[in-house]
Amino acid sequence: MNREQLRHNKISIIGAARSGVAAAKLLKSQGVQVFVSDKEPADKLKSHVSALTSVGVPFECGGHSERIYDCSLMVISPGVPSDAPVVLQAQRRGIKVVSELELASWFCPGPILAVTGSNGKTTTTTLLGRIFEHAKKKSVVAGNIGTAFSDVVLELDQTTVAILEVSSFQLDYIESFHPKVAVMLNITPDHLDRYGKSFESYIASKRRVFENQTMSDYLIYNFDDPVTCIEVRKHAAQRVDVLPFSVKKRLDSGACVEEERVIIKLHGKTIDLMGTKEIAIRGMHNLYNSMAASLAAMIMDIPVESLQGTLKTFQGVEHRLEFVAEVNGVKYVNDSKATNVDSVWYALESFEEPIIVLMGGRDKGNDYSRLYDLVRKHVKAVVAIGESAEKVVRAFRDLTLVEKAASMEEAVQKASKLASRGDVVLLSPACSSFDWFDNFEHRGRVFKETVRRL
Ligand code: ADP
Repeated sequence: MNREQLRHNKISIIGAARSGVAAAKLLKSQGVQVFVSDKEPADKLKSHVSALTSVGVPFECGGHSERIYDCSLMVISPGVPSDAPVVLQAQRRGIKVVSELELASWFCPGPILAVTGSNGKTTTTTLLGRIFEHAKKKSVVAGNIGTAFSDVVLELDQTTVAILEVSSFQLDYIESFHPKVAVMLNITPDHLDRYGKSFESYIASKRRVFENQTMSDYLIYNFDDPVTCIEVRKHAAQRVDVLPFSVKKRLDSGACVEEERVIIKLHGKTIDLMGTKEIAIRGMHNLYNSMAASLAAMIMDIPVESLQGTLKTFQGVEHRLEFVAEVNGVKYVNDSKATNVDSVWYALESFEEPIIVLMGGRDKGNDYSRLYDLVRKHVKAVVAIGESAEKVVRAFRDLTLVEKAASMEEAVQKASKLASRGDVVLLSPACSSFDWFDNFEHRGRVFKETVRRL
């Protein structure tokens, strides 16, 4: 849909938080008749509600009334489940439903670089933003990462690259969203609670990132991830220019590792980028993220020097394997953003030292068996926390020492007693944080404050 067509529509927006408000402001600025609705009460949405009031957008909170169906287009925020009753009802009534990401993309005049995957999106998107900054190439970082795409899209021109972190929820309701470069980092079980416990539906959402791409676009994908590989082979290989990256296999094109060096093979040229150990962010997962970002940047004509300079200095993002402090020879690491089993696997894999890991929270249907080998090898003890502590205890008690804690304070205390000089205490919960905390940032901050009081 173009701007002119939009103007003649009545549009309802579901969700009055960051993305919903951004979409409302964007539409209002275009002269569209817009109405916002949220099932949460107004006191939970305070600053957002006042933002709507200040731009004069009508809204309702605490439930959805009949008025939301008086529209020809419904825009949903990423927080609204794809099968929420309100969405299904709108579809039954013949109303077109799109995500906030799709809506914003209608206004985007320049190329889109979209990063998706189960894990590594924020790290890779942030890294790409820094690389572009270093190269002084015009870009904006938005999407699932703090700034809604709708908030910034009107500021862009044809030469500005929109670097977007894209979640599967945002992809569920796209239509013409069309990245010039898409990055598929990995697909591992996550959010199955929101996909009717179906991994297949979750995969189907993820692959939508490339559904509108053509041969003049690029899809960068993880060659070592079997699920991603199958999807690309089945659905993308003949339609898009595909570029793999691999840590395990030497490739003829894309990015790979040869003799501990990152090698980029693009447009018939081979570039020896740098030694893997020169990359500042640690762990195999971050090597994947760095290779994916490097390929994307090179396609966008970023000079090699900017890539090298950024990769040597980029320290990663808060709450992702973030070093907190060393106390009595024990290192404390905050990986609060590890909200699924796969990210914990990579966290455990990143350390040579014995680990005491704090795990648990709100369970998302976790299968812990993927961690068993690493737990046997590297984990000295597990401190089980949160609502799912009992499940964590049952999962690991036959493999290593497991203790339960009733608060973060108690968990850190217990971990510090279990640790000896040279060990690592790692918060890597494999669960979401909504049992004890407002969000993963809050959980990470409480962990850090507790560690600093030791
Ligand atoms: P996302 O935005 O996809 O949630 P983040 O960059 O915020 O990804 O990282 C989330 C968690 O996953 C962190 O614990 C991080 O250490 C871990 N992680 C980062 N990149 C990867 C990757 N490529 N594969 C697996 N885990 C990763």
